Amino acid sequence: MVGHLKHKGFFTKELMDWNRTENDREMPWKKVRDPYKIWLSEIILQQTRVEQGRSYYNSFLSQFPDIHSLAKSNDADVFKLWEGLGYYSRCKNLIHTARFISQNLQGRFPDSYESLLELKGVGPYTAAAIASFAYDIPHAVVDGNVVRVLARFFGIDSSFQDQTGKAMFQELAQALLDKNNPAEYNQAIMDFGATICKPKGALCSDCPLSKKCQALLTDRVYELPFKSKAKTKKTRWMFYIVAKYGNEVLIRLRTEKDIWQNLHEFILFESPSDLEPTEILESEKISSICKKPYILVHVSERFQHILTHQTLNMRFICIEMKQKPKSEKYHFEKWNRLKKIAFPKAILRFLENYPLR
Ligand code: SF4
Repeated sequence: MVGHLKHKGFFTKELMDWNRTENDREMPWKKVRDPYKIWLSEIILQQTRVEQGRSYYNSFLSQFPDIHSLAKSNDADVFKLWEGLGYYSRCKNLIHTARFISQNLQGRFPDSYESLLELKGVGPYTAAAIASFAYDIPHAVVDGNVVRVLARFFGIDSSFQDQTGKAMFQELAQALLDKNNPAEYNQAIMDFGATICKPKGALCSDCPLSKKCQALLTDRVYELPFKSKAKTKKTRWMFYIVAKYGNEVLIRLRTEKDIWQNLHEFILFESPSDLEPTEILESEKISSICKKPYILVHVSERFQHILTHQTLNMRFICIEMKQKPKSEKYHFEKWNRLKKIAFPKAILRFLENYPLR
C-alpha cells in the first residue's frame, strides 16, 4: 500500500479544499449529529439511491421522531412505511436494533466504533459513518463512491469484492482520513464520488485531483474500479393466484428466509419454467385450496421484476370463488384493506394496474 501513499497529502488537501469551496450537495441528514437520525439515514441508504431515500427518511422521522417511538411501534406499521424500498431484512434489523437500544441501553446509542458494529444491521461502513458523524471518531467510511475515487485516483486494480482488495481499500481510506476532521472528510469524499468522480460521466476536466489522477493519466477512468465477474442471476417463475371471495382475498405473511420476508403475498405457485394459467390452477397445490367452481376473471401479462441477485418472471391469475375456501396457510383479508398492508414492490405493481378493483 505504501506506493499508494505517494500523493496522500495532495489528495486529502485538495479534497478538503473542494469540500469547503465548491461542494453544494444538499441532503436532509447532512451535518446532523444525532446518532438516531444518522443511523436511520444510513440504513435507508444501504442499497438505495439518495433521491429515493430522502422521502423515506422524512416519513420515518415524522412518524418516529426518536428511537423509543420506533421501538414501540408494531412491526406491520414499520414495514408498511418501508414498502417499496426493497431489501426488507434492513427493516427487520431496524426494528430489532431500535428495540435493543430503547430497552437495553435506555435509548442511548453506543458511542464507539466497536460497539456500533455489534448492532444488528450495522456493518463497517455504517459503524464508521455513525462514529464519525455523531462522535467525531476517526474512522474512514468505505462505500461504492469512496472505492471509485480511490481506485481511480491511485490507479488500483484490486477488486473491492474480494477480501484482500476490501482490506486494502479500508487501510488506504483510513490512512487518507483527515483525523482532525473525520466527519467533514468522510462526507467530502462521498459527495465527491457522487457529484464529480461519477460512475459514468466523471467530471475530470473540473476535477481538482486531475493533475495526479492515475486513471486519467493512463486513460483508464472507466476501467476502474475493477469488478470481479458478476455472479449469474437466479431466474424464478412466480405465479400468484389472486383468489377473491366476495370482497375478501386470500393472503399470507412470508416468514421463510427468502426474498420479501415479513411482507405479504397472494397464493404463490412457483415452477422451474413458464406454465399456462390452466396448468397452474389444476395443479395439486392450487386446486386443493381453490376448489371449483370459480370464475377466471383476469390473467395479467407476464412481466419481469429484477432484484440484485434474482430475476423474477411473474404473472397474476385472478379468480372469483363461488365457495369460501379453507386454508391453514392463507387467511382472508378485505380487499379495501390491502393498502394498509405491506406488500413487495412486484405485487404493488400488479395491484396498481389491477382492473377489477
Ligand atoms: S480526474 Fe476524473 S477519474 Fe480522476 S479523480 Fe478526478 S473525476 Fe475521478
